[in-house]
This record gives sequence, C-alpha cells and structure tokens, in this order.
Amino acid sequence: MFDFLIVGAGFAGSVLAERIASQLGKTCLIVEKRNHIGGNAYDHYDAAGVLLHTYGPHYFRTNSQRIIDYLGQFTEWREVQYKILSWTHGRYWQFPINLNTFEQLIGRPSTTEEMEAQLAEWRVRIDSPKNSEEVIVSQVGWKLYEMFFKNYTRKQWRRDAKELDPSVCGRIPIRTNRDDRYLSEKFQALPKHGYTPMFQKMLSNPKIEVRLNTDFREACAQVQFQHLIYTGPIDEYYDHCFGHLPYRSLRFEPETLKQEFFQPAMQVNYPNEQDFTRIVEIKHATGQKLPSTTIVREYPQDFGPGREPYYPIPAPDARALYSKYAERAALEKDVTFVGRLATYRYYNMDQIVGMALAEFERLRANQRGQTLIQGEPVLSTKI
Ligand SMILES: Cc1cc2nc3c(=O)[nH]c(=O)nc-3n(C[C@H](O)[C@H](O)[C@H](O)COP(=O)(O)OP(=O)(O)OC[C@H]3O[C@@H](n4cnc5c(N)ncnc54)[C@H](O)[C@@H]3O)c2cc1C
Repeated sequence: MFDFLIVGAGFAGSVLAERIASQLGKTCLIVEKRNHIGGNAYDHYDAAGVLLHTYGPHYFRTNSQRIIDYLGQFTEWREVQYKILSWTHGRYWQFPINLNTFEQLIGRPSTTEEMEAQLAEWRVRIDSPKNSEEVIVSQVGWKLYEMFFKNYTRKQWRRDAKELDPSVCGRIPIRTNRDDRYLSEKFQALPKHGYTPMFQKMLSNPKIEVRLNTDFREACAQVQFQHLIYTGPIDEYYDHCFGHLPYRSLRFEPETLKQEFFQPAMQVNYPNEQDFTRIVEIKHATGQKLPSTTIVREYPQDFGPGREPYYPIPAPDARALYSKYAERAALEKDVTFVGRLATYRYYNMDQIVGMALAEFERLRANQRGQTLIQGEPVLSTKI
C-alpha cells in the first residue's frame, strides 16, 4: 500500500516524488517502464568514457531562481554557453542568425544598423504570424528562411513550417548584435556530474521506492495506492479511445572517434540535403578532457511501435484531439496528469520542474482541504 503511485521517473515524476516524500512524509512508488531513472534527461558514460545525453542533448537553462535553487539541492552546476553552428552551402554559419551570420552572408564587416536596415527590406509584412513560416519570414524574409529553416523544419516534423504553430520556429532567437548564444535565458548550465546523479539524489528518500522495467498497467494490478500521478502519454492512459495522438520520434546514431574533437561546436545543424538534422558533440558542453570523442547524428522518424514519443506535434489538428483527452482527464478525482506526455505539449526541463512544483502545491492544499488557484490558496473542499 502506497500513498502515491507515480508513473514515470522523468523530471515530472521525480520532482513530485521528492516533494511528496520530503514535505508531506508520504510514501511514493515510482514505476518506470525504461531501465533507468531520469526520463529523457538521462545520461550515461559510453565505452569511450564520454558522458552522453542518451536521448539527445539536454541544454538546461532557466530564468527562474526558484528552479535553480530547488535543483541546486541535488546538484552542483557547470555553467555553459551553448554554441551551435549551421552547415549549409558548403560551409559553417553562425547560428542562430546574428550580426556575424549577416557578415558571412554579405562577405564583409557590417553593423547592427546595416543589418536592421537590410532585414527591414527582406521582411515580409505580416502583422500577427499564424504559423512557423510566417513567424520567420516576417522577421528575416525568404532567403534566410530558406537557408536555415525551411528544410530543417520539414525534416524534423515531416510537415511544412506553415502547418506548424508559430512557437516551433519562433522559439529560435534572431539577433542583430553579436550575441551568438543558442539560448537567451539568464542561467545556462549542466548538472556538474551529469543528470543521472542528480536524479539519484532526488529519489534517495527512503519513502520513495522506484521500480524500473515496470509498466503502469502491471503496477496497477500489483499495488494499492490512494492517488495516482501519471506522467506517461495521456492517450495511452485512456486506451487511445479518441484515437492515437501524433508524435515525432528520433533515432540517435553515436560514433566514437579517436580524436579530441570532431567539430568546432557542441552542435552543428544540417538544415538541407542530409537525412540527419544535427550532429551533437556534447563533450564541448560537459568539458570532459578525453583523447576520444563521441558524436551523435540525429535522424527524425515517424512514431510507431518500439519508438519513443519524443515530440508532441505542435499543430491545430493534434491539439484538437488532445483537448478531448484533456476534458476527460479533468473529470478524474484521484489522478493528476503532469509532464510533457500527459499534457501533450513540448516543455523545457525547467518548465516541467515548475509545473511539478505547482502541482505539488495543489496536492498539498488538497491534503489540507484547500484549493489552489493560480498559486493562491482558497478554502474549498475539492479540486
Ligand atoms: C530530443 C530532445 C531534446 C530535448 N532537449 C532539451 C533541452 O535542450 N533543454 C530542455 O530544457 N529540454 C529539452 N527537452 C525536453 C525535456 O526532455 C523534457 O522537458 C523533460 O524530459 C520532460 O520531463 P517529463 O517527466 O515530463 O517526461 P519524460 O522525461 O519523458 O518522463 C516520462 C517518463 O514516463 C515513462 N513512462 C511513460 N509511459 C509509462 C508507462 N505506461 N509505465 C511506466 N512508465 C512510463 C517514460 O519511460 C519516461 O521515462 C528535450 C526533449 C527531447 C525529446
């Protein structure tokens, strides 16, 4: 008998288990169908001793001091400025687009003023962009869109940018100064010794039991619990009763090389003819000093049996299907749906930590017979 059954040992499940065990003193059983904790943020050492992000590079970043402080209880940090390049037209380009990229394009030194004037000429006037194509052409015009975004997006999603929400391409910054960092958040760092030790520490409370290689259905038949926290795919929870939610999957192809580094940056994007979208050499970010290196090529693929559901599809048709499941989930009394799969939306790690911490506050208020609405406790009997 457990107080909480938690499905999934990723950020969502682990943060909630840690909070519930340490703050409420309740028992938690986490079941995880993979053979490790950490969800998609799991990392491991390969045969060459390179610390790899098993499910693709996970660049931690946040603007929230609360989240840094919370995770800081379980890890030290190694600050990293994530740098990437793009390979197209036979050469490396500075990416995301910034003043250096513009200089590469025109083949001579330039200024922010000149770049802004040129972009103003190239830009397509669209007052409120409704999709990812519009969001980019309204900032930089067709030429840069076609060089860096058009085919990359098609490869990644098997849909054209104009079929995808503005947020997909809109999340990539476009700058007219020399700031060439991939991301804009204030805090950009990796757990100093890796993500996995951080999760191990988070889950070390004796009130938490973790069962790996265990599916939710199997656990339900074996254990009793009072409340379920579910971080798996929401359509799977309901036996796909409204249909399968679409996802994009990935295949990771690692290669170890007997040289210190393979490429000039942590990540190189391949927006055009190659089948893979990027090559990641995470050693640039982890700072490991080793004579060998491991690079990972990333091939987008359709989701299907035996493949991981990595990315919910950010498009109106998929969202409409999800909302049917969400309506049903809202009627559940003793089940909490949390995390990227259960809410069918791409979130960064810090956002998932924030979501789990907010969910914990709601559960805590509920234990006290209160309801939390937008962070404010109000007296009530039911959530
Ligand atoms: C390729 C890729 C790159 C990313 N890069 C970044 C990045 O650079 N920066 C960033 O901030 N975020 C990144 N993310 C997002 C990040 O992975 C997520 O924000 C985070 O992992 C979500 O945590 P979660 O707990 O919601 O989900 P997950 O990590 O997916 O955890 C859910 C867990 O539930 C388990 N599970 C599912 N169904 C069942 C079942 N029936 N029974 C038992 N267990 C089950 C799964 O095996 C999984 O381990 C990336 C994601 C991907 C896919």
